[in-house]
Amino acid sequence: MDNVFYRNLNRSYLEIDRGEGIYLYDTHGNRYIDACAGAAVANLGHAHPRIIEAMVQQANKVVFSHLSRWTSAPIKELADLVAKLAPGSLNKLYLVSGGSEATEAALKMARQYFLERDGKSGKYRIISRWKSFHGNTIGALSMTGDKRRKKYVPLLLDFPHIAPAYCYRCPFEKKQENCSVECALDLERVVKMEGAENVAAFIAESVGGAACGAIVPPADYFKIIRQICDHYDILLIDDEVMAGFGRTGTMFSIEDWEVIPDLICVAKGMSAGYAPLGGVIAQEEIYNTFKQGSGSFVHGHTYGGNPLSAAVAVAVVKTLVDDGLVANSRLVGAYLLRELKEKLSPFWYVGDVRGKGMMLGVELVKDKVTKEPFLVSLGVAEKLTQTLIKHGVIVYPGTGNADGENGDQFLLAPPLTMTIQQAEELVAAMVAGFAEFEKKIAF
Ligand code: PLP
Repeated sequence: MDNVFYRNLNRSYLEIDRGEGIYLYDTHGNRYIDACAGAAVANLGHAHPRIIEAMVQQANKVVFSHLSRWTSAPIKELADLVAKLAPGSLNKLYLVSGGSEATEAALKMARQYFLERDGKSGKYRIISRWKSFHGNTIGALSMTGDKRRKKYVPLLLDFPHIAPAYCYRCPFEKKQENCSVECALDLERVVKMEGAENVAAFIAESVGGAACGAIVPPADYFKIIRQICDHYDILLIDDEVMAGFGRTGTMFSIEDWEVIPDLICVAKGMSAGYAPLGGVIAQEEIYNTFKQGSGSFVHGHTYGGNPLSAAVAVAVVKTLVDDGLVANSRLVGAYLLRELKEKLSPFWYVGDVRGKGMMLGVELVKDKVTKEPFLVSLGVAEKLTQTLIKHGVIVYPGTGNADGENGDQFLLAPPLTMTIQQAEELVAAMVAGFAEFEKKIAF
């Protein structure tokens, strides 16, 4: 009898027993490549000795001291490290326990910033994008733009969403050759519709993750977005909960667009799954506005910035730097993208293979030429995910028709420690899984 209230109540769950490096082992001793690092979290792989050592050392000192009342050496060290690594004058780290708490914090910071800067109480609305994921709490879900929000719409904040930067299915029906980045200009259209005096921020994932399978915006995208935000006095919130800390081949994913946001939301990769942690990295100017204004920002969550999670994150970030894992993410990610494009694209049901660094996505279609998606009820991505498990590969579960229209996708986001040899092993296992799926499944 299993009394766990699972997310999906009508299927069985593989019982994971232990992990080692890029591999997970179930209770029957079967080995799997953890090709999604849990949920793009376990960026250093499993049972990393340096992180375990840091955990034990901190546990022997103090595990919990309340951030609302006390500071600690690990949080100060972490904030210093992050300030050095983050772009521009993004120097101030506000700590919470996870990604949804981070995007909720950013939402509140944006509203409070305009209140404190010049008493603009009307500037509170947050614009986001369709095909996005910013978390499951009510504010975060309001900003999210995918099927997860549907059941809860009456509970959500009535915030506007703009078109996604989704080149494979350009919402403006453009090809790469004639792209004029309308997806970025769509922000201006919605700002004008809302009235800039009502808009506090625009939030976007630098590289889209859970709702879309690694969609990468065009080269000019964030420059145009930044210009629009500046012109209308709107904060740019960069949600790097998934993409941050090396996942896309730079320490912060936005670096590739040479743009400096006002707030960066972080979580997953910062503590690499060894302890729950999230945060918002804020521009010094925002911090100073709060300091000189009300002198506080109240978004306390009991476990936010506890010393154990912070000590873990210090060890994680140092390991990323010392072991050159951001460069490895770029190198092995490029290898994986090239190989997977070459070897998976020939399958008739593979529409697109894409991504950046070690954040990769595969989109499945019923018809390659028309890009017609499969029927939602077929659950194609989920079935393929199950077949891959039989071949020893765990991918980020198929998003299966994320918005009811746009096809099945899944994510690959292996630990950043993956070697080229292990990447070869992953590609071979995936090709075998895709071949079996092709033979067995009749659509
Ligand atoms: N933002 C992004 C971009 C995410 O990918 C996620 C989680 O996948 C979240 C926010 C929410 O993070 P959490 O699950 O830690 O609440």
